[in-house]
Amino acid sequence: MACIFCQIIEGKAPGKILFRDEQVTAFRDAHPIAPIHILIVPNIHISTVNDMTTDNECLVGHMVNVAQRLARDYGVSTSGYRLVLNTGPDAGQTIFHLHLHLIGGRALPFHFR
Ligand code: 5GP
Ligand code: ZN
Repeated sequence: MACIFCQIIEGKAPGKILFRDEQVTAFRDAHPIAPIHILIVPNIHISTVNDMTTDNECLVGHMVNVAQRLARDYGVSTSGYRLVLNTGPDAGQTIFHLHLHLIGGRALPFHFR
């Protein structure tokens, strides 16, 4: 499958991996919009939130817990950060492998982009 995030997870494409466990991989966004811009990605291919099932709901909770840990490790827990899950064209989703953006390190405008 020609999914760039699957390729990064499998080590077949370059990515600055910051965290990995049996459920998720986290790596730096290639085009950061803030000093801290990390993507937390399930190791299994799920295209969008629309493709989730109740079987996946613990996975998303785990993604948020990993984001919390990375926010602490990268020093933005107190200053604040934004967690974003874009879904579909109107949200500007460009990569159709579910990913949670962790964005922080500067004051963010209300709108994501
Ligand atoms: P979306 O708009 O789908 O929510 O976000 C996709 C994100 O993936 C964008 O912020 C984009 O910069 C990032 N991205 C796209 N291609 C790559 C890549 O090959 N490597 C990494 N690390 N990030 C990517
Ligand atoms: Zn994928």
